[in-house]
Amino acid sequence: MEVVSLPRDCLQTHHGQTTLIWNNHKRKRLRRRLPITQATTQAIRVWQARRDQLHPPARGDACLFPSLTALSGAAYISSGYLSEALRQWVDSLPRLNAEGVDAQGNPLPFDRTLIYPYAFRHSYAQRHADAGTPVDVLRELMDHKSIAMTQRYYTISLKRKQQAVTKLSAHAIDQTGQPAPCTPTAYEMRSVAVPYGGCTEPSNVKAGGGACPIRFQCAGCGFYRPDPSYLPAIEQHINELRADRETARAMDAAEFVITSLTAQITAFEHVTDRMHRRLDALPAAERAQIEEAATVLRKARAGENHTLLPLTASPKAP
Ligand code: SF4
Repeated sequence: MEVVSLPRDCLQTHHGQTTLIWNNHKRKRLRRRLPITQATTQAIRVWQARRDQLHPPARGDACLFPSLTALSGAAYISSGYLSEALRQWVDSLPRLNAEGVDAQGNPLPFDRTLIYPYAFRHSYAQRHADAGTPVDVLRELMDHKSIAMTQRYYTISLKRKQQAVTKLSAHAIDQTGQPAPCTPTAYEMRSVAVPYGGCTEPSNVKAGGGACPIRFQCAGCGFYRPDPSYLPAIEQHINELRADRETARAMDAAEFVITSLTAQITAFEHVTDRMHRRLDALPAAERAQIEEAATVLRKARAGENHTLLPLTASPKAP
C-alpha cells in the first residue's frame, strides 16, 4: 500500500541527501521521510520521467503510480496489481540462487514464493538490524509506533549470530593450519576482528584489536586464529600482496622486501589451502551450514564499521 500510493513528487533533496516522502496509511501518519540511496533515487527519477509520458484519469495526477483506467475505484494502482507484476517478474528470472549448495556442490535454488512486496520491508529492517543500526534509528526508519516492534528484528539478529559463532568456533585454525577449536565465548572475545582472522594476543584483545604489537603480521603469528568466515578477506589480501610484490619488483626494491612479501603470501596461501581442504572433506550439508554461518558473521563484522544513512527524520515534511 505504501509503495502504490506514493505521491508523484515523492523525492526531496537537502544538502545532497534525498529522502522519500511516503504515507503510513496503517498508522494514519502521512508524509513520513525515509533517507534513500542514490541508486534508489535514480530509479525513481527514471520512473518519474516515464510517468510524465502517461495520461491517466485526472484523479491520479498526484500519484506516482496512477490507475490507468477510470473504471478503477482508486487514484492509484492496487497493491494486488503490484503483487502480480512482481510475481511475473520474479517468475521470469532464469536463475535465483539461495545461500548454500546441494550434495553436488551446486547452488541451491531460492524459494521464489518468499518474494512478495511486504517481504522487502522485513528484509530492509532485518538487514539494518544485522548490520548494527541502532534500534532507535531503525524505529524511525520503519516508522514503528512501539520500539518493541523494532526490537524483534534484533532478537532474530542476535540469535542468528550466536548460532553462527557456535558453528564457526569449532572450525578455527592456527597460523600453521592446525585445528584450534575454541568455545563460543572464547571466539567472541578474540573476534576483535583483526583484518584476516581472530586474534588471541592478550594486549591486542584488550585494546579491541587496534594494538597489534607486530603490525598485523598475522600469517606468521602464533596468536592468529582464522576461521572460514575470513576466507574471502584472506584471499583478497593474498591478491593485494601479490600486486604489492609486482610493484616492488617494478620499483627494483631491495630483495628483503620481495622476500618478506613472498613469505606472507606463502603463509596465507597455506592457511587458505588447509581451510579449503578441511571444508571440502565435510559432507555437503555441513559445509552449507558453515558457509551460511560465515555469511552471518561477515555481515555482523561489516556492520560494526558501517556508515549509517544520514537520518534527518522528522514527524512531517514541510
Ligand atoms: S599479528 Fe598476531 S597479535 Fe597481531 S593482530 Fe595478528 S594475530 Fe594478533
